[in-house]
Amino acid sequence: MTARSSSLNADRRSLDLHEIAGGAVDLVVIGGGVTGTGVALDAATRGLSVVLLEAHDLAFGTSRWSSKLVHGGLRYLGTGDVDVAYESAIERHHLMTTIAPHLIRPLPNVFPELPSMDRKHAALVRAGHWGGDALRRAARTPGTLLPRPDRIDAATVERYTPAVRRDGLRGGLRFWDGQLVDDARLVVAIARTAAYHGARILTRCRVMSASAAGVRIRDELSGSEFDLAARAVVNAAGVWAGTLARDISLRPSRGTHLVMPQHAFGGLTASLMVPIPGSTTRFVFALPAPHGRVYVGLTDEEAPGPIPDVPQASEDEIDFLLDTIGLALERPVTRADLLGTFSGLRPLLDAGEASSADVSRRHVVQRGSDGVITVVGGKLTTYRRMAQDAVDLAIRDTGLTAGPCVTRRVPLVGAGPERDPRVSGELLRRFGSEAGAVLDSSPGLGEPIAEGIDVSRAELRFSVRHEGASTIGDLLDRRTRIGLVAADRARAEDAARKALEEG
Ligand SMILES: Cc1cc2nc3c(=O)[nH]c(=O)nc-3n(C[C@H](O)[C@H](O)[C@H](O)COP(=O)(O)OP(=O)(O)OC[C@H]3O[C@@H](n4cnc5c(N)ncnc54)[C@H](O)[C@@H]3O)c2cc1C
Repeated sequence: MTARSSSLNADRRSLDLHEIAGGAVDLVVIGGGVTGTGVALDAATRGLSVVLLEAHDLAFGTSRWSSKLVHGGLRYLGTGDVDVAYESAIERHHLMTTIAPHLIRPLPNVFPELPSMDRKHAALVRAGHWGGDALRRAARTPGTLLPRPDRIDAATVERYTPAVRRDGLRGGLRFWDGQLVDDARLVVAIARTAAYHGARILTRCRVMSASAAGVRIRDELSGSEFDLAARAVVNAAGVWAGTLARDISLRPSRGTHLVMPQHAFGGLTASLMVPIPGSTTRFVFALPAPHGRVYVGLTDEEAPGPIPDVPQASEDEIDFLLDTIGLALERPVTRADLLGTFSGLRPLLDAGEASSADVSRRHVVQRGSDGVITVVGGKLTTYRRMAQDAVDLAIRDTGLTAGPCVTRRVPLVGAGPERDPRVSGELLRRFGSEAGAVLDSSPGLGEPIAEGIDVSRAELRFSVRHEGASTIGDLLDRRTRIGLVAADRARAEDAARKALEEG
């Protein structure tokens, strides 16, 4: 076992595969999204031997299509899910203070008070904000990290959201929450931290079948198949969980975001929240995003039928998002402003609700009749708690000897306090205390790979050597998010190819 190194790369993959083939471990995890990597980290830090198997790449599934928010449960208060809201606030606290403070920043959410939001509606929003703030205080998150909600004047609203409609703007309501630099980067950091604690993280290894006694694996690179015995098997395959577990019925719901240029929003520095006409609790938002972009989200559409690898936005979703965000803008945005879209499927449990928007975001950990433990539902923010519950059940069921859960106190790679004085901005936000090492490992390669794309060849090489990237897609669609805009992806492909060749 290659413990005490967080580096994931082709050599480590070969060695790990060689060592496990035909062998046995304490726990196998299926799925390399936020949930599966969280389970691997939880189990490894309790002293269990762990293998994680991912059919594609880390964060290949839903975990890269989220809104990239670490939220404290405000929206769940609106639906009466107080337990879920409280759990979110607690997990947000751990993430922002200990686990991954380098990847998350406080984000002001600004609700402009325009004629479309009458005073009664504004009072409701304000009441929700105070409820959300009570959760923040209950979780002991300091006001210096996430300030209290407040009312702001029209000039402050305009400063945060320069493109906002001026006509009838009375002011705004401000609420603070957490924003990830990127969701896929969180997953990679969890996986590497698990690897540091001894977990074997194997991408491009598909689980063909699973039972309480172990799994059958296909190495997607060589095509070879082999068995791995395990004391416990945890299915964290997200929307695909039902293909491996008989007793789970999922009801995927598609959420779509638009990718737009910052200049269409005049340099947005807060999340702009716009009520969906006819609803007092649902909003469309525009978020400032890396690489000079803005993400506009979010839809909630039933998505029955076969599960695609990469879900696609419908024309109706695009129109709905453009129209709704446009209600709050001085100059409406149009399809001409669109740089791209991305869509993900929420792995929601089917409990017979009328609409997918009503389905609880509560997670479920369940042992199937075949003995496989499935952990599904929930959200990015609560992955740590989901992992804890899944490993607790695995230990209880199998009698494995393991320590208590410690992940609340385990910082992810890059979360250390060390700051290299040469490093600032996005590089620091993406790599935290590792940013200096990224530059040092490839001297002279710190310049952007192309005009307007603030990623360097040094970063791409680091991802190949230490973050388990082995294809152009890994580099451009997951370790970085250049690929969210097709034209940028085309301009970055040569640099990615070179980084892979240089290894
Ligand atoms: C549009 C949208 C926005 C969201 N926004 C937020 C947000 O802002 N904040 C938040 O907290 N939550 C958010 N969520 C929820 C959150 O993204 C998901 O709950 C979470 O990412 C699910 O992660 P997962 O690991 O369970 O599933 P996934 O990320 O889908 O991971 C499952 C993995 O299993 C792998 N797999 C499947 N079958 C096999 C097999 N046979 N063998 C091996 N591997 C296999 C897949 O390749 C995949 O990588 C959002 C969800 C959506 C859809």
